[in-house]
Amino acid sequence: MSQDNRYTIVIGCGRLGSKVASVLSNRGEGVMVIDKNEESFRKLASSYEGLTYIADAMDVDIYQAVDIERATTVIVCTNADNTNILIANIIQKVYRIKNIIIRLYDAEREFLFHNSGIKTISPTELSKNEIINYLEEETYA
Ligand code: AMP
Repeated sequence: MSQDNRYTIVIGCGRLGSKVASVLSNRGEGVMVIDKNEESFRKLASSYEGLTYIADAMDVDIYQAVDIERATTVIVCTNADNTNILIANIIQKVYRIKNIIIRLYDAEREFLFHNSGIKTISPTELSKNEIINYLEEETYA
């Protein structure tokens, strides 16, 4: 798919979501970022050209308003695992979104998504792997 046709919805415009949304927007892709706290949008890059929507993403009524059926990818990165799990399951089942990526602080809950088609990102797991990589570098004595 060409980047022109992509429409990504990012749920949670905090330290992670704002960075992802800003990168996608800088690449010229269509982006919508949702956050329940308007202040959070201040974290977006000044060059951000995507859309913003203030809402609690637990409220399923908002999804029509953000045109979710057109979304090619949804990235779910609020700061609460339970919220992310619930939202990811709903949007997969109700709106049949193919590409869903969610942040999970608790890596032990990744098993919930095995064979589900939903991709999980665990900051703890990624950090652990990076630390192990550092320790395996030859310069580490
Ligand atoms: P961070 O932990 O810095 O990546 O920030 C998480 C972001 O998720 C914050 O900006 C919160 O306002 C936002 N957030 C948390 N819960 C919800 C929710 N239910 N709906 C929309 N945004 C949320």
